Amino acid sequence: MAETNCASAAVQGMPPTLDAILAVGTNMGNRVENIDDAVRRLEADGSIIVVARSKLYRTAPWGVTDQDWFVNACVGVQTALSPHELLKRCQAIENDMGRVRTRHWGPRVIDVDILAIRDRQICDPDLVVPHPFIAERAFVVVPLKDVAPALTIGGKTLDDMIEALDASDVTPLQ
Ligand code: ATP
Ligand code: CA
Ligand code: CA
Repeated sequence: MAETNCASAAVQGMPPTLDAILAVGTNMGNRVENIDDAVRRLEADGSIIVVARSKLYRTAPWGVTDQDWFVNACVGVQTALSPHELLKRCQAIENDMGRVRTRHWGPRVIDVDILAIRDRQICDPDLVVPHPFIAERAFVVVPLKDVAPALTIGGKTLDDMIEALDASDVTPLQ
């Protein structure tokens, strides 16, 4: 993600029980198992506790559209890790699960992004929070609403964002 994409926006309405919200996505192999595996790995050493899980959604590929469909979800976590420690954990899980970067926004066994950390705004070269593309991605906003329905980013509600997007390709799996 280029630094110029940094458009750090104010976050309000995080559920008080959550320290952070992560987005997970996959379009290779057994997608449902990959999501479960990532959640298990998040919780593995006890420094991250998953306290909320969205439904699983089948979603159309975004950005690079000539690739297989995705399963996307969001999880709400409690953690005392710093933002960069949390990022490292997300990246370690991607690597441990065999993520190989072929092309930008291309196929992946797992992607773990930090969407929000309480009401923090971070604009570092390697970490932008809230994640700058949330409002452009129905595959993120729809599951995000499951875990944080009252969230606003830059003054926009999640329903505002969904209204402005085509969410017809984001359908619950269960
Ligand atoms: P996108 O970031 O547009 O969703 P992507 O998830 O496919 O694309 P990756 O290759 O997984 O991109 O990550 C690229 C870089 O994004 C990482 O090296 C990481 O440092 C950086 N990054 C910046 N902000 C975040 C964030 N909030 N969550 C996860 N990674 C982030
Ligand atoms: Ca991503
Ligand atoms: Ca990522």
